[in-house]
This record gives sequence, structure tokens and C-alpha cells, in this order.
Amino acid sequence: MSKQGNIGVTSENIFPIIKKFLYSDHEIFLREIISNAVDATQKLKTLASVGEFKGELGDPTIHVILDEKAGTITVADRGLGMTAEEIDKYINQIAFSGAEEFVEKYKNDAAAIIGHFGLGFYSTFMVSKKVEIITRSCKDGAIPMRWSCEGNPEYTLEETTRDEIGTDIILHIDDENKEFLSKDKISDLLKKYCRFLPIPIAFGKKQEWKDGKYVDTAEDNIVNDTKPAWTRKPSELTDEDYKKFYRDMYPMTDEPLFWIHLNVDYPFNLTGILYFPKVRNNIDINRNKIQLYCNQVFVTDAVEGVVPEFLTLLHGVIDSPDIPLNVSRSYLQSDQNVKKISGHITKKVADRLEEIFKNDRPQFEEKWDSLKLFIQYGMLSDEKFYDRSQKFALLKDTDKKFFTFDEYKTLIKENQTDKDNQLVYIYTNSTEEQYSYIQAAKDKGYNVLLMDGQLDVHLVGHLEQKFEKTHFVRVDSDTVDNMVRKGDSQKVDLSEDQRNALQEVFKSQMPKMDKAEFYVTFEALGETANPILLTQSEYMRRMREMSTLQPGMSFYGEMPDSYNITLNTEHPLIKKVLSEEEAACREQLTPILADIKGWEARQSDLEEKQDKKKEDEISAAEKEDLDNTGSKLEDLRSRRDAILAGFAGNSSLVHELIDLALLSNGMLKGEALSKFIKRSVQMIG
Ligand code: ADP
Ligand code: MG
Repeated sequence: MSKQGNIGVTSENIFPIIKKFLYSDHEIFLREIISNAVDATQKLKTLASVGEFKGELGDPTIHVILDEKAGTITVADRGLGMTAEEIDKYINQIAFSGAEEFVEKYKNDAAAIIGHFGLGFYSTFMVSKKVEIITRSCKDGAIPMRWSCEGNPEYTLEETTRDEIGTDIILHIDDENKEFLSKDKISDLLKKYCRFLPIPIAFGKKQEWKDGKYVDTAEDNIVNDTKPAWTRKPSELTDEDYKKFYRDMYPMTDEPLFWIHLNVDYPFNLTGILYFPKVRNNIDINRNKIQLYCNQVFVTDAVEGVVPEFLTLLHGVIDSPDIPLNVSRSYLQSDQNVKKISGHITKKVADRLEEIFKNDRPQFEEKWDSLKLFIQYGMLSDEKFYDRSQKFALLKDTDKKFFTFDEYKTLIKENQTDKDNQLVYIYTNSTEEQYSYIQAAKDKGYNVLLMDGQLDVHLVGHLEQKFEKTHFVRVDSDTVDNMVRKGDSQKVDLSEDQRNALQEVFKSQMPKMDKAEFYVTFEALGETANPILLTQSEYMRRMREMSTLQPGMSFYGEMPDSYNITLNTEHPLIKKVLSEEEAACREQLTPILADIKGWEARQSDLEEKQDKKKEDEISAAEKEDLDNTGSKLEDLRSRRDAILAGFAGNSSLVHELIDLALLSNGMLKGEALSKFIKRSVQMIG
């Protein structure tokens, strides 16, 4: 039988369309052709097992043969083959109608074309000027056939000779795609797409080192592992098997922390192994990705949509015949089946973490620092995962002790509940820099959490919303007495003038720092507490931290850092500063302060009068009077401040106190630090 005909497509110019549209991804032809060979081989096995095929199965190995001289790539299988009728049906009609439908559907959506679509057999025309099929069906007495097509709607189909059942697909590579006629290129593609196919794939021969060069041996070079770990039963696998599989997938990467073997058959099919990697830096995160397979054929490592976002940081393999691969990314994300898969993976991961936590808490704690990035990311981005994480998410304190959320709550309830019945979580992000604050909090019997991870700023905000009647404060955000307010704070016993004086004395001597502002406040903290303390408002600091991570909040990023200088008015050294100031400045200040009092009285008098009148009833003279009073006061106050600053400038004690406060906040550096050391030495001597 010999036949010529037209391939059953309405669109005459389908070939140019295939070439043009699929240009970006034309290497997938090899995957398509080999997976067809795998299908054919497996179908023959099935026929044999049900007794429909009674012949010899033979060696199922699929051979990929590169003939650089002839310019061909051949994929030869020992599968079920095709009869003339089957070629007509599956190749001439069905495969093509699929191709046409595809092009019709996506011609206006170029983005959808990029990616993976399973166009199948006809993707070979992206790289070939001619494709031949030489096949012999497994059916009794089937006549071997040769089909040939040169990239136009005409084909020939004729009888040929062939002893073995099975199929050879011969691609005559066109001039623009000569790059595929290279051994290295084909090896790379086989490694990428065919590495875990279930039927052995041979490409060339194994080589050995002989007489100073590599020579072919008689043994086939099998490029794939037909039974990769994820396809096997967890009970058959040892820890070492899992680790080895990981090493094979991601060479040069640290050993994984944990793994999760996925095995779902209802309501969809899914297998795979996900690994929690030990991440050292962000480069690792981007380099190694989860790979998505469809019946052991590699599809993509862009798994967004299939795997919840926070789990895209994991490594490993997911294999599912149910994920619609031949559709666009946007479709994938809205697909209900895919959503279910994503939800299911989340649940499995949470279950596994809970299991490890329950069975081996010490190990879980040991690995927590590496794990927490993933877990916290999940808690922040996935409501369901957050709920599940309550069973295993941990908090770590500065003594490196770990607590579940419930355990921690119980621990601090007694001591860290304030007068408004709010539970106060105290945390630090640096045990080095905030050492003295941590110490003070501990002395007070408080527990301090260590929150120094990349996502901890976000988590703090998140937990505050989730936990009831709770707030978090960083250990350096207030004085230790104010951290957990148990009652009204001790009254500060200072006159108005004394407050002004101390404020100016300290403020005037604060170092000039870029983007830093200082406010002087007073607390009666007792004689034994520190005389001076530098704290940073929790709210402002958090806003600034968030602003660096979130667009649209740059306003906060522009704000200066604001620090509170808290003076402990009961400390002897602060009392000493005050009495030295009074002794040094009284003479000069007394008349100025009296003047200020006078002018202030006048000012409030005038203001009171004018407040009672309507705007147009106030005369120009009255307005001028008030203005003059204001500038007089300004003048007097700056004279007062200059005197105080003059005193402070000469006071080693003031400088020493300020430097101590800066020092305990990690802010004393460079020249200022060496000045401090010199001065301290002098003061000791
Ligand atoms: P699909 O693989 O999705 O069915 P393809 O376009 O890849 O679509 O293949 C079309 C059909 O051609 C296959 O379903 C199969 O019946 C037939 N076919 C392709 N390659 C082979 C082969 N190597 N051996 C036997 N049949 C094949
Ligand atoms: Mg196919």
C-alpha cells in the first residue's frame, strides 16, 4: 500500500505558525518525541500483561541516535508501533487537529505559548525540514510502514521493510537548528527532560579511558534513572537514599534538613519529595528549585501556582499527571484542581513538620534556625498554614531555650502582664548590641526573646494581630520599668526650671548625627538603676524597618531616627549634674529666669484677652504687642540655653554620662569613642 494525501487540517499554513509561535521553546521537541516512545513502550507492556500481545517484549531500551553527517536525530523504540490506519488516525488527523486547535486558541495570547503545552508529535517541525516515521505494529501480520512529511500539509505513506516491531522517528534537522546536531547539546537536553523517565534511554556508548583517550565500550550509555526515589515507596527508602537523591539533584548543596515524601492518589494523583534545604544565602534560594514532572517527564522548574509561594523555597520534585501542563500560567493559577493541589501540599508539609516536632523535638529545635525562614514565610503568607503552625512554631529566648506559643504564654503570663491586662513580649534583635538592656530586663525577672531573623520584624507585627491582648516591645524601646507598666510610674520630683535646665544641658551636648533626633525625658527609677538611658520608640523604629521592606512607606524611611534620652532623676549622678549646674549658673541665670517668668505672664495675659475677641476686633497695636513679647521670650530663652550649654560643654560628667548611654546602645564609635576613653582615664586618675 502506498498513499499520498493531505494532512487533515483546515489551516493551510500551520507549519509556519508552529515554527514562529513555538520558537522560544523549540528544544522541547526531544522531550515530546521521547515521551511518545515511552508511552508506546509502556502500552506494549500493558498489552502483553493482558495477553493481547503474545510475542517477545525484548529489550525496551529507547535509543537516541545522532548522525551529524546525515543531519538527523533518530529516536527508536520497541513499543507497540502503528499500522497504516493508526498513522492515518493518530498522526494525520488527531495530532494535527490538536495542533490546530492549540494555535487557534492561543494566537492572540503570545505569552501563553511560552511555556509548556504538550503539542506533541508536531513540535518536531519546529526544528526539522523533514520527519520520517518507520514503524511496525505489534499486531499480528501488520505491514511495516514509512510515513514522511516535509513540513507542509502533504505527506507520503508507503509500505516498507522492518523486522522488529516498534517505531523509529527520524528528524532531518533544518539549517536554522543545526545547534541540535551536537552530542553535548543532546546530552544536556536528555539530562534536563529525560533524566527520570521510566524506560531506559540510551544515547551512544559508555566510554572508557584507554591508551590516553576516551573510547566507546560495547555497553549502552543509559542517561536516565528509571526508578527515581519519589516513585518508590517510602518504606523501601533509607535516609541515605533520600540524601543521595538530593545530592544528585542539587550537587554542591548542603545536606537537607528534612524531607517530605508526598504520595496522594485522591482526589488527584501526586507524588514527589520536598526537601527543606539548609539555606546559607539568597543565591542558593534562587539557584535550586523544585522541579515539576508529569509522569516522570520534566516539565518546568517554574512551579508558582502549583506550589504555594512560601514553599517555592523548598527543593525537590513534584510529579503529577493531573496538573494541566498544556495551558497558560494564568490559567494554572485559577484552576481549581491546581488550587486543591497547592492546599494539599501545604497541609502535608505542616503535618510533616508537626510529626518531626512531636517525635524528635531536640532535633527540630536544633534545626529551627534554618527552618524558621520557611515556616515564618508560610505563617505570614498563608492563613491555613499559620493555623497549623501553632503546633510546632517556636519562639527562642536569649538563653537559646525554645517554646511553643502556648508554652511561652504560660511562662510570661505571671510576670509580664501589665496593668491594662496586656501581655508584653519583650524581644531583642541583637544580643550583642542590646546586651545591657537585656541584662536589665532579666534582672527584673523578664524573659527576652531573640528575634534576629530576616522575617522577624514582620512576624512581630503579625503575632500582635493574632494574639489577643498582647504587644511586643524591643528591649531597648523603653526603660525597664516602663516596659511592663504595672502601675503609675513614680513621680518625678523636679521644678519647671530644673527640667528645662537638665533638658538643655543634655540636649546641647548630644552628638550631631545624620538623621537622628534626641528628646530628653525624666523618670524616677531609683538610685540603683542606670542614671541615663537611650531608648528608641518601638512604633517609630518598626515603621522605619517596615518602610525598607515595603514600597509606599518611604515616608517613614525619610524620618530621622528618634531617640529618647531618659534621665533617672533619683540617681546621685543626675542630682550631681543638677547641683553643679545650679552652682555654676545661678548668678547669671537668676535675672534671666525672672525676666522669662515676667514675659511669660505678659504673653498669656495678652493671649487670653485676644482669644476673647473676634479676629477683626484686635487692633494692630495689640497684635504687635504680642509679637514683641514672643520675640523677647525667644531671645531670653536662647540666652538661658546658651548659658546652660556653656556649663554643659565644660562638664566632663555630662559628657561621660552621654557617652555611657551611647556606648550601651552601640552608638559610640570612632573619634567619639577614643575621646571617651581618654576622658575616662583622666576621671579615674
Ligand atoms: P499525545 O502523545 O498527547 O497522544 P502526540 O502528538 O505526541 O500526542 O502523538 C500522537 C499520537 O501518535 C500518539 O497518541 C500515539 O498514538 C501516536 N504515536 C506517536 N509516537 C508514537 C510512537 N513512537 N509509537 C507509537 N505511536 C506513536
Ligand atoms: Mg506525545
